[in-house]
Amino acid sequence: MMAAVLYGKEHLQVEPVAVPKIDRGDILVRVKVALTCGTDVKVFRRGYHARMIVPPAVFGHELAGDVVAVGADVTSFRVGQRVVSANSAPCNDCFFCRRGLENLCEDLLFNNGAYAEYIRIPARIVERNTYEIPDQVGYHDAALIEPLACVLRGLDETGVRPGDTVTIIGLGPIGLMFVRIAKLYNTRVVAIGRRKTQLDRAAAMGADEVICTEQIPDPRNTVREITHGRGTDIAIEAVGKPETWEWAVDMVRRGGTVNFFGGCPNESHVSLDTSLLHYSEITCKASFHHTPAFIQKALDIVSGGHITAQQFVNSEEPLANLLEVMRHLMSHNGHLKTAIIP
Ligand SMILES: [Zn+2]
Ligand SMILES: [Zn+2]
Repeated sequence: MMAAVLYGKEHLQVEPVAVPKIDRGDILVRVKVALTCGTDVKVFRRGYHARMIVPPAVFGHELAGDVVAVGADVTSFRVGQRVVSANSAPCNDCFFCRRGLENLCEDLLFNNGAYAEYIRIPARIVERNTYEIPDQVGYHDAALIEPLACVLRGLDETGVRPGDTVTIIGLGPIGLMFVRIAKLYNTRVVAIGRRKTQLDRAAAMGADEVICTEQIPDPRNTVREITHGRGTDIAIEAVGKPETWEWAVDMVRRGGTVNFFGGCPNESHVSLDTSLLHYSEITCKASFHHTPAFIQKALDIVSGGHITAQQFVNSEEPLANLLEVMRHLMSHNGHLKTAIIP
C-alpha cells in the first residue's frame, strides 16, 4: 500500500509500505479520508513531537474509513462498517486515569498513520475510542471528531455559561471550532484574528464581534471597551504564542477564566502581573488533548449536524500530493483543513 512516512524535519515521503498486520484485538481500516491538522504541520516543521510521534513513522491522525479486517477477539466491529477512530486511548488504570484525567494518562497510547491506504487501529483504541459512523454522517464530517473533542473539552474546562462573553484569540481551524461551539452554548463571541478571510469565516460561524489585528495590533483595550470596561468572562488563546497568552490574561474580567489552549514552542516563557492575577482572582487553565467522554460528545455534535466538514475543510488532495500540501500549510496560515484521499 502507499503511505506517508515522516523521516524528520520537513522530510516526508509517500512510498510503498507493507499493509499493517493486525493482532487479536485490532481492526484494519481502509482510510477513506484523512484530515490535515495544525499539529501535523507543527510536527512536519519541527521533525518531532515529544509525546505523539517519533520519526521515522507513518504519519497523520484524523481519519475515517471502512473496516476491512477484524482480529479474532473483536466482537464490537465487523467488516464493512464505516468507522471513526481517535488517535489515542488511555490505560484506564494509572493515577491520572483513575481521577478522570485520561488525557494526562501515564501510558497514553498514540496511533499515527492516517495518511495511508490502510491503518491498524490497536485493540485499546478499538475498545475505548472507535465508533461506527451514523448513516447520515459523511466520512469527512466524522474525521473532525478528534480536534472537536479537544475544543469541547477546552471550553468545558472554562466553566462557560449561557450569556457569557467568550473571546477567542486565533482563528485557525481550532479557533473557528471554538467560535462555533461557544455559539452553541449561547454565548456572545468576540473573535480576534489577523486575516480578513479568517474574520469572515468567524462571522459566518456566528461571532458577534470580530477584531482584526492588522488594524488593531493590540486588541486588549478594544475587548475592554466592548465589555463595559469589565473585560471578557472567558478568554481562549488558540495561537500558541507567549504574547497572545499574555493578552488573554489582560482581557478577562475580575473572576474570569483564561484557557491557554495553544501550545507554545518549547522553552517559551510568559510574564504575568501577579497583582492582577491575585486581586482580580483570575483563573488560568490550559487544556491538552481529549478524553474518551469528549470523543463521544464530539461524535454526537457532528451527528447532529452542528459541525460539518464544509465549514472546516476547504480543499481535497490525493495522498501523493501530501508533501506539497504540508509545505503549503506551513507557509500559508490562513488555510482551513485539507482532506487527503489515499
Ligand atoms: Zn489533530
Ligand atoms: Zn492511564
